[in-house]
Amino acid sequence: MVVILKPGTTQEHVDKLISYIEDMGLDVMINRGVDCTVLGLLGDTSRIDPDTMMLNVHVDRVMRIAEPFKKASRKFHPDRTTVTIGDAEIGKENSFTIIAGPCSVENEEQIIAVAKGVQASGAKLLRGGAYKPRTSPYAFQGLQLDGIRLLKEAKAETGLPIVTEIMSPNLVETFEENVDVIQVGARNMQNFDLLKELGKCTKPILLKRGLSSTIEEWLMSAEYILAGGNSNVILCERGIRTFETYTRNTLDLSAIPAIKRLSHLPVVVDPSHSTGMSWMVEPLSLAAMAVGADGLIVEVHNCPEKALCDGAQSLNLNQFDALMNKMKSIAPGLGLEV
Ligand code: PEP
Ligand code: MN
Repeated sequence: MVVILKPGTTQEHVDKLISYIEDMGLDVMINRGVDCTVLGLLGDTSRIDPDTMMLNVHVDRVMRIAEPFKKASRKFHPDRTTVTIGDAEIGKENSFTIIAGPCSVENEEQIIAVAKGVQASGAKLLRGGAYKPRTSPYAFQGLQLDGIRLLKEAKAETGLPIVTEIMSPNLVETFEENVDVIQVGARNMQNFDLLKELGKCTKPILLKRGLSSTIEEWLMSAEYILAGGNSNVILCERGIRTFETYTRNTLDLSAIPAIKRLSHLPVVVDPSHSTGMSWMVEPLSLAAMAVGADGLIVEVHNCPEKALCDGAQSLNLNQFDALMNKMKSIAPGLGLEV
């Protein structure tokens, strides 16, 4: 962090500011220019709030040099992180992993049919919501523990690892015991108590980007999990709120190369929640692949017209198979083949 002092700051005030900074456990490098003095703060500045520093009337500007996220940063960890779950190695160079399944687990027949179908087309993990974050309290809230039980049945039938969303820190133990990847939904990206609990568990976390979160806020949420000791974090871009209403959200594809530059963590794209329309899933899936994402999480239903949640954005099994075939033909050798 660099602190630029106002021109004419007296030596007495410079010295006072230096002792204030040193009292916070940092070293200070002093550069005296013709007009002003610049202080370089050396050490862990992650706890320092630049705005608080600005309260000193002699401070003109404060600039961060390092990002506030350390463990998620590529600077301190140049090699890509690969998260291994079953056959999938999410984040590995030259691989593209597909997670697919219904928005919500609805019943045994549905989840088994979708699990078998997506597996036959090349998906490596099965998604399915058991605890659903719904805008309306009157909408289907998910089968909850029964949903997890059905996901486990689908896993027993197919061998596909299961991905499902957690909403409460009270359920971390249950999820840790029963599921393969714990999803944090957009609405809970900044549920810091939940993130802290997930930092203590050993299962990989799929961390979706918040509805209105910046890339830095998203990486800071990943930092919570990493700082707790869990290094298996997969990021997921699922669209953000903008002024556009044609699509459900606006898929921020530029976030993918940005994340790749800033972080070593894998990042996948959700073309379903970002658009809200099944016919947009294919072009945006191809786009996600082109911009360097590590995979997709796609909603697939055996009968989207009857889905209890998000039918309009769900592919049916034939559409999903067609998408997979298209991706295999465009980019063979990424591990999409069954
Ligand atoms: C979901 O994946 O089912 C979901 C609710 O997604 P998001 O948190 O991105 O809205
Ligand atoms: Mn959904």
